[in-house]
Amino acid sequence: MKVITKIAEMQKQIIQEKNNQKSIGFVPTMGYLHEGHMALIKRARQENDIVVLSVFVNPLQFGPSEDLEAYPRDFERDKKAAEDSGVDYFFYPDVNEMYPGAPSVKVIVQDRTEVLCGRSRPGHFDGVATVLTKLFNIVLPDRAYFGMKDAQQVAVVDGLIHDFHFPITLVPVETVREEDGLAKSSRNVNLLPEERKQAPALYESLKLAEHMINEGVRDPERIISSMAQHISGQTSGIIDYIEIYSYPDLKPVSKIQGKIIIALAVKFSRARLIDNMIVTVNE
Ligand code: AMP
Repeated sequence: MKVITKIAEMQKQIIQEKNNQKSIGFVPTMGYLHEGHMALIKRARQENDIVVLSVFVNPLQFGPSEDLEAYPRDFERDKKAAEDSGVDYFFYPDVNEMYPGAPSVKVIVQDRTEVLCGRSRPGHFDGVATVLTKLFNIVLPDRAYFGMKDAQQVAVVDGLIHDFHFPITLVPVETVREEDGLAKSSRNVNLLPEERKQAPALYESLKLAEHMINEGVRDPERIISSMAQHISGQTSGIIDYIEIYSYPDLKPVSKIQGKIIIALAVKFSRARLIDNMIVTVNE
């Protein structure tokens, strides 16, 4: 595995690989790798000749009162995990390399951001789309791998790839969970021990929603209120949102019908956690 910190070097290597007809799979991350990231890498490994992993905590996608400083980082551990999982190129630029000055161009996401994390984190998806535009141009992937834990991100990246004509196939990968159901996340280490014990209630509330839908409930508000009751009863977290939309277009629904996303965000003292479930109802 090659560790590369410079954009020019990364591009040079990739162009060489492409000249040799190699297909490129790309897994962009913010590091502190866990099994969720590993699932993306594994899938990329299966489907491509070359796997590029990027680790970059992108300041542009953090709001002023968010956890940019507290975001966990461990280069040596990530390097080992990447090497063990068969990554070919570990792209690890620093902030000055990615943003040497104030950006002269920024990507603004117009659609699918007025809800969920887009509403709670103004500018977040503009930051994501801007860094991905840069990374896509650096890594020139054939396929890019994204986790469904960040389902709104998948929807936004789908729009980015489509609107800007990136010749890239977006590959969404199922959410990987802890044994107790908590979605794996780099931010889980920032939960206090008591909060960690409570956190499975987030997934339980999604399972509760699924159960209600299976029992015939079609009123989104009723489902949301049961979920909120469960989370408030079981955790000390503050509910940021619990919302239900059509997926992937993220439009409001008055009735549970077709493909929908049930998504939530809960703020604990030092970590804001998100989770979601996609459900399809055809009756
Ligand atoms: P992050 O490092 O949190 O920005 O995540 C990098 C990529 O890994 C994103 O595409 C995430 O959606 C994905 N990811 C994070 N957690 C999980 C998980 N528990 N299961 C599957 N994918 C995940």
